[in-house]
Amino acid sequence: MKYISTRGKAQSLGFEDVLLAGLASDGGLYVPERLPSFTHEEIASWRGLPYSELAFNVIRPFLGGCIDDSTFRTMVEDTYSVFRHKAVAPLQQLDSNEWVMELFHGPTLAFKDFALQLLGKLMDHVLAKRNERLVIMGATSGDTGSAAIEGCRHCERVDIFILHPYQRVSEVQRRQMTTVLADNVHNIALEGNFDDCQQMVKDSFADQAFLEGRRLGAVNSINWARIMSQIVYYFAAGLALGAPDRPVSFSVPTGNFGDIFAGYLAKQMGLPIDQLIVATNRNDILHRVISNNDMSRQSLVHTLSPSMDIMVSSNFERLLFEVYDRKGEEVDALMARFRNESVELESERWAEVQSLFASHCVDDDATVEMIAKVHADTGYLLDPHTAIGVVAARQCRRNDRTPMVTLATAHPVKFPDAVLRAGLEAPALPEAMKDLFERPESYDVISNDLREVQAHMVKTLAG
Ligand SMILES: *Cc1c(COP(=O)(O)O)cnc(C)c1O
Repeated sequence: MKYISTRGKAQSLGFEDVLLAGLASDGGLYVPERLPSFTHEEIASWRGLPYSELAFNVIRPFLGGCIDDSTFRTMVEDTYSVFRHKAVAPLQQLDSNEWVMELFHGPTLAFKDFALQLLGKLMDHVLAKRNERLVIMGATSGDTGSAAIEGCRHCERVDIFILHPYQRVSEVQRRQMTTVLADNVHNIALEGNFDDCQQMVKDSFADQAFLEGRRLGAVNSINWARIMSQIVYYFAAGLALGAPDRPVSFSVPTGNFGDIFAGYLAKQMGLPIDQLIVATNRNDILHRVISNNDMSRQSLVHTLSPSMDIMVSSNFERLLFEVYDRKGEEVDALMARFRNESVELESERWAEVQSLFASHCVDDDATVEMIAKVHADTGYLLDPHTAIGVVAARQCRRNDRTPMVTLATAHPVKFPDAVLRAGLEAPALPEAMKDLFERPESYDVISNDLREVQAHMVKTLAG
């Protein structure tokens, strides 16, 4: 299995290199040269499998044979055995023919654990095989950082540096990162905002010489292995609700277009999906492209669903590559224009995007109303990201007979502000995290200066 860049210029790579790489050298994102697909019979034969067995079957073709079956099977079993619910991704029914799929039973209570728990193990395996080490550098406004740290804390060959904006993440989110006291985990509280953190990471990738020969890797959702891991739960939900004999629809709260793109891939790989609904908060570039062919940057708004507060959705480029018939030079030209101005897609390309996705943008008031309504109707407590998904599902749904599944991307305990605004009591931390506020923390406060951050990293790695 080879992977190619969405901009058509970088050389193609095998799975191992794509796993360790960040962006392609031409600025594009890696995608498989040919997408694997499964027959109706194959998919039907997976009914009733435990989650890890399903993950083995769905992910295996992407590895291109670079990890042997028994090693990989053990790896996925270990990965999903740490989830707090035996079903790993259980469904909860909200209404007739309407469900949420709970993706928050991993160590950091958000769906990013599905991919990052596996990513850490995959990286360690490949690095051991090659006798290499990797330095991971990432910026976070909350969820990604803690999930990446939890995914890497047991890695023997990975050092991870996560930059968060000093005093600008919630205490739960900070403590989920800074209370992981492992020799290879390094938290940096940067005296700046989230954009400054991201810029530090970008600048460091552009100039890796400061690492004196060490290799730098990425854990944000440009990493193909993350997308790949997220395809599995679409199959899990589909199979539980009657696929492949009947179609299922999904509503996905999305920011970077990573999670919903995995749903698109599941469909291309043979899972019968009727609707794929893109649910955004007020940072609605995806909704504007899909509904209006308006791909333009607008200033960032801070919302009650902070994990979707972004201006530009990086993974959308992977979809553009598909609707532009995999012509990398056209994607390259479009993205070059988009750097400086707003763009429109060619009308047939946009029509294809519209045929693939419905979309809806949800503001904070509607988010809070849905949290209150679902709680009043069913007693079930939604987190604000999931509530956005439920609003969009109900708004965009075109067939009540097709099961509708909203992906529940986080546990409500992570976002108490929204819950309180809905007039409800903030939930308690799950048992395994009860002592989070008593655990010792470790992090370094560093000024917003690239040289200082890099010098700190080099010193830490040497020490
Ligand atoms: C990261 C995140 C999202 C957005 O996921 P994308 O892959 O960027 O679409 C949604 N909800 C929560 C809770 C998240 O942490």
